[in-house]
Amino acid sequence: MTETQKRARTLGKRLVPSQGEKTHCPWGHPYTPDNTYYYLGARACRRCSKERRRHKSNKRPSAPRRAMLHRVLWKLDAGKCRYCEAPATEEDHVVARCNNGDINSLYNVVLSCHDCNAIKGREGGFTLSKKRELKWRGQLVAPGHLFGEPLMAQVKEQRLRRQKRQGLTHMVAYATKKEGGAQHE
Ligand SMILES: [Zn+2]
Ligand SMILES: [Zn+2]
Repeated sequence: MTETQKRARTLGKRLVPSQGEKTHCPWGHPYTPDNTYYYLGARACRRCSKERRRHKSNKRPSAPRRAMLHRVLWKLDAGKCRYCEAPATEEDHVVARCNNGDINSLYNVVLSCHDCNAIKGREGGFTLSKKRELKWRGQLVAPGHLFGEPLMAQVKEQRLRRQKRQGLTHMVAYATKKEGGAQHE
């Protein structure tokens, strides 16, 4: 028992509340019924648990695991680009690595051809469900739906808008020049 606790005892009051008296978790989130669950008989904070999960490490998998992921992925996507159905040459992270996308699971990677991967780049809006349904802004990316050229044209537009918004005008100018140049050839 510490000196402070001894003094508190002689004065007949508690300085430190018992666990049951605490209304907030150590990080200050309230122990409301919504935010509380029980683990090993003690209360635990849902928000803290969520935060812990969100900050889980996103390390590059080991070489054998990478080999396994590659093998399964090429089988799952049947060697075809998920954006245009051309023969795949690359693997594309649906949520890009620079946007903190998962690099250690098959739930964030699809096969892609070089062109689609280059155009898509780090653009957001794409999601991959557990059943490997690829969607862009809620629209299914599959033959007969949003697919191939029209999709990539829209993604390109989104990138130009983003670069303009973020003040990356030198890149916009370069892209426009390059595209303009290609048209005249
Ligand atoms: Zn908490
Ligand atoms: Zn493609």
